[in-house]
Amino acid sequence: RTAAATPLPVLGDDVLVPVADGTEVTYAALDQAASAPVLRRVWDDVAAYLPYYGSVHRGSGHLSQLSTDLYERSRATVAAFLGCRADDQVVFTRGTTDSLNLLAAVVPDGTRVFVFESEHHAALLPWRRCETTVLDTPRSPQQAVSVLEAALHGGPDGPKLVCVTGASNVTGEIWPVRELARVAHRHGARVVLDAAQLAPHHPVDVAGLDVDWVAFSGHKLYAPFGAGVLAGRSDWLDAAEPYLAGGGASRRVAREPDGGLDVAWHTGTARHEAGSPNVVGAHAVASACRALAEAGLELLVRRERALLEVLLDGLAQVPEVRVLSLFDRGEDGVGGGGEGGRAAGRVGVVSFVVDGWDGTEFADALSAEYGIGVRSGLFCAHPLLRNLLGRGHDEGGDCGAPSAGALNAVRVSFGAGTPDEHVERFVRAVRSLAA
Ligand code: PMP
Repeated sequence: RTAAATPLPVLGDDVLVPVADGTEVTYAALDQAASAPVLRRVWDDVAAYLPYYGSVHRGSGHLSQLSTDLYERSRATVAAFLGCRADDQVVFTRGTTDSLNLLAAVVPDGTRVFVFESEHHAALLPWRRCETTVLDTPRSPQQAVSVLEAALHGGPDGPKLVCVTGASNVTGEIWPVRELARVAHRHGARVVLDAAQLAPHHPVDVAGLDVDWVAFSGHKLYAPFGAGVLAGRSDWLDAAEPYLAGGGASRRVAREPDGGLDVAWHTGTARHEAGSPNVVGAHAVASACRALAEAGLELLVRRERALLEVLLDGLAQVPEVRVLSLFDRGEDGVGGGGEGGRAAGRVGVVSFVVDGWDGTEFADALSAEYGIGVRSGLFCAHPLLRNLLGRGHDEGGDCGAPSAGALNAVRVSFGAGTPDEHVERFVRAVRSLAA
């Protein structure tokens, strides 16, 4: 039952919160799919840099140069963490939503986009400029691949983009990314991977998975809010108008005799990073990438999987609880499966419904009585939740029909800093609340 490695130290792991019996307990942060606690190592790195704070790409002073150097080195660290190809660009953004909107803004005219309805809204909604095909929610990784294949087969020529998730923010299930990319490329489509939920839990290998772009958020990867990444192929990025127009993106600006403006834009990362860059955010993201790589992602994955087994085994013993799943147990496409057990093919994100409870009331009780923070609701994935809550799923595994009238699900999620005790407390709490 005990995990293979110790949790990484995070900020907030010593915060005490009051609970209903009048005592205080350490806060159990089990809503890490929304935002993860910051690694103490990231905090230290950020604090060490702040005295040397200076403008990036804009000054000749020593601290400006130091900041510029740090910012550019942060890109290189992120590129290495993601396994990028030598000619990929790492663009710093505000987060996954921003990254995917950036990509949506630069796709060539006439691009057709293919996206599963089960995606997070950040991946489902940015493609309004494009003709978009929304694909059915698949019930197995193989079905995901065949649904995509059928949608791409025999379509007209022209630019195409497939947007896929690495791991569902609702079920935590890992998607068959490599297979989806293979099918997409066979049909001349590019692929962007939404790794917001995958990257904090699992190695992401852009070159190995053969995806064209990847997006993730720093605040889910144990860095503070405010920075994220879009990394990948430069051709569409360099050919498009800048995502934001302003200083930094423009190489030369001149007033034309007729009163208009003649603007030449940079190519490369500067093109889409107008405005003063978020050097602290980039540094924090890079620090988190370094910390995870040094701790050993494989070890962290093994530890998380052991905790996930405890969690899923615990939930399976509570008859009132139904875990929401899309896929048959133990399947995925990025090498996470194959070890058997309930946790195979999943990251530490689990949603469930409880007979006789609305999800929000249940989440409130976990907080008030046990000091446990989880999330309830529809998790910015309305089509998927409607699907999961609205019909029974009787293919076995962990997913039964939710209780009649369930409006909201509960989501519990953890990460590299979660102590075993938090997961054990959660299981005990669910057992006693649900009974
Ligand atoms: N994609 C997925 C799968 C997510 O879980 C989230 C955040 N919940 C996002 C995209 C959006 O990330 P952000 O809010 O950091 O932009």
